[in-house]
Amino acid sequence: MIKEIHRKLAQREISVTELVQRYLSTIKDKEEQIKAFITITEQQALEAARKLDSEIQEGKELGILEGIPFAVKDNILTKGIKTTACSKILQNYIGVYDATVIRKLKEAGAIILGKTNMDEFAMGSSTENSAFFPTKNPWDERRVPGGSSGGSAAAVAAQMVPFALGSDTGGSIRQPAAFCGIVGFKPSYGAVSRYGLIALASSLDVIGPLTLSVEDAEIVFRVISGKDDLDSTSYDLRACSLPKEKITVGIPQECFSQGLDSEIKENMEKTIEKLKAAEITIKTISLPLLPYSLACYYIILPAEASANLARYDGIRYSPLDTELEGNDLLSLYYDTRGLGFGSEVRRRIVLGTFVLSRGYYEAFYKRAQKVRKLITEEYKRIFSEVDFIISPTTPTLPFFLGEKKDDPLAMYLSDIFTVSANIAGVPAISIPSGFSKEHLPIGLQITAPYGKDFLLLEFAKKIEKIVAYE
Ligand code: GLN
Repeated sequence: MIKEIHRKLAQREISVTELVQRYLSTIKDKEEQIKAFITITEQQALEAARKLDSEIQEGKELGILEGIPFAVKDNILTKGIKTTACSKILQNYIGVYDATVIRKLKEAGAIILGKTNMDEFAMGSSTENSAFFPTKNPWDERRVPGGSSGGSAAAVAAQMVPFALGSDTGGSIRQPAAFCGIVGFKPSYGAVSRYGLIALASSLDVIGPLTLSVEDAEIVFRVISGKDDLDSTSYDLRACSLPKEKITVGIPQECFSQGLDSEIKENMEKTIEKLKAAEITIKTISLPLLPYSLACYYIILPAEASANLARYDGIRYSPLDTELEGNDLLSLYYDTRGLGFGSEVRRRIVLGTFVLSRGYYEAFYKRAQKVRKLITEEYKRIFSEVDFIISPTTPTLPFFLGEKKDDPLAMYLSDIFTVSANIAGVPAISIPSGFSKEHLPIGLQITAPYGKDFLLLEFAKKIEKIVAYE
């Protein structure tokens, strides 16, 4: 897809301006229903396109992403463009610098078409926690697109952009990709710089691409990844290629336990047969700690989030539109945070502050850190036996808007299969795996050892055609 657009641009079958106009007109046609965007940067995009067109006129050779439009989750900073994290507390905030991923994509010539809707501060699995409006699933507008990168996933699925950036702290790229029938890739922790990503939980957050194919995910990943002096946790990945001998894939038996939708189970069983037919060795494995990963995640995440969100105090960043009544500093803090944060964000700040408090720190936070270590070791052990792990991305099909909004625990369960990759820092990708009877997309998740991102992408490319279609 990106290669095909690139070919058309390089061969002058279409100009960059025409290309950008085409996508903008798709956005105009569909946006009223889908509501994927918070900001559309039409003028800047057209300006960038015209500039590139005149350079092409002068004989410029086009790089692979040059002139390719994309959308950005609204928690990634973009200079001069509103960046809200879909929170009231940042509703007027304009990015003062570009995140490293944005700088790299701009340098590669890609063109931003807009910023996409998300759950407030990336907390959620349906995009219904956005302070502004929910996004709809393009396959069925009564249903959620998943979250928290729901706007990015819906925009790609509805072909409003060829690719989008999301962030994944516990599944927020992979789960919406699965719900919207596209590819969503969460790189290894540190493989992509987090500089300019509005932090949710700094030890779990990763930026990654949402695309229509694995090849596209790889193209974008090659550009955005790598060591960045502005993020000390970032590093350069080593290239690697698939082993010559037969590939062994592990299927965790825990994934088939209660709570897995029967159609997803059936889909998974079919996938296993298809993989066997493709000469891939399937091995049933056990990840006994998998059921504990969600509990561990919901201690570590709120703890880190409560610290990261302390900076929104009404003094820095943008002021609320509301007139505040208090006249001392403390009431300014209280009022700003009380009015500016939505209920899910406040819930997690309270939880995070609690698990870090004296007297409870040892019982909760420290214990969760120990479980985190055990989960990481469990992955290491399994990856000494298998090359990749395969599981469903989500336990359910895309659910209805409103269905889980008032039931946080039910919402948290959406990430049961995705959070452990963040806990261990390993790379994982969701690829389309066909449809349910009602024609709702189903996702298949592939997980690889830490740092083996290119290997994962290579394997995902190999099997995407086998599993995606009947
Ligand atoms: N849905 C998960 C949560 O609410 C994951 C969020 C994310 O990956 N940003 O925390």
